[in-house]
Amino acid sequence: MENRLKRKIYDGGRITAEEALELYSWDFIDLAKAGDMRRGLVFPQEEVGFIIDRIINFTNICEASCSFCAFHARADHIEAYSLSIHEICEKVQELVDAGGSQVMLQGGLHPDYTFDTYLEMVRTIKKKFPKIFLHSFSPAELAHISRKNNITLDEIVKSLKEAGLDSVPGASDLLVERIRKKVSPKKITVTQWCEVMNTLCIYGMKSSATMTYGMGETSAEQIEHLRVIRNVQDQTGIIRAFIPWSFSPARTGLEYITPATGIEYLKIVAIGRIFLDNIIYIQAGWLTEGMKLAQIALTSGANDMGGVLMEEVVVKATGIETMTNMDELVEIIRNAGKIPVKRDSGYNIIRKYS
Ligand code: SF4
Repeated sequence: MENRLKRKIYDGGRITAEEALELYSWDFIDLAKAGDMRRGLVFPQEEVGFIIDRIINFTNICEASCSFCAFHARADHIEAYSLSIHEICEKVQELVDAGGSQVMLQGGLHPDYTFDTYLEMVRTIKKKFPKIFLHSFSPAELAHISRKNNITLDEIVKSLKEAGLDSVPGASDLLVERIRKKVSPKKITVTQWCEVMNTLCIYGMKSSATMTYGMGETSAEQIEHLRVIRNVQDQTGIIRAFIPWSFSPARTGLEYITPATGIEYLKIVAIGRIFLDNIIYIQAGWLTEGMKLAQIALTSGANDMGGVLMEEVVVKATGIETMTNMDELVEIIRNAGKIPVKRDSGYNIIRKYS
């Protein structure tokens, strides 16, 4: 089986979910080599990009209360906050001053924000900072805005795009109903996530897909997550990048879970690369996995380092405080035998570091 599957992978064939499951039993080095070989098929270049961006978590007030999330707060909690549009713009200005180009606005599912709150945020930022690329909100937020305001998803996406929203992160968590019912029963279902992605496609908006694994799911359920993403990508072609990261149980309602290991992370990167044959970029998750593991991911199928991230508070809420800067990213990429490049949100090269 392994030899036949190996041949299929090295011949560039599309593997089935059953075959992907088989990969978990492979020797890790063989798997990483296969992942890197498949990376070469869709992305033969040796460049590894990064972008200077800032996540602005404009509110942590959220009515979903997912048990895997250490970030959210109820409105009456002492740590609950909501940034004013003035405070948001100050943060964007700091990003612009640092040479950054992309903003990710993301917040909890606020019970009282109207559609206008979101439209105003987008319009004001775009008016003041027309060159900033707004890669913002999430399928869960868009579905929440639609439900709360009784406005169709089509109208929400169309209006946000007209206001200046450029693309939407795919924030997928784990696209497996059994796990979602357990850890995020009030968040969107798998079917709704797919609906949002299809709607983004209709309005010509790009997205991404993530994978938060290590929440008590089986290997077969991890592959099920990848299968949903591959299907959506086959239908839409809007997913620019796949970004897997391990779940950090500290300070969440799932503290009893043992965190995933480094080898498990690298296997997910390699299996993701082999299975997701229709996605060009796989990001190495330095924020959750640390710099050294992210560097090794670049030899197992990953080909992007994501953002330098001027600010991040969601992962920080779990106690992880990995920080980086451009010089460190350039060095880490170069030291992995790759060519560091600064890129824009569309993955176009802005500067190559020799
Ligand atoms: S993961 Fe998102 S939707 Fe769930 S509680 Fe946290 S902020 Fe709210």
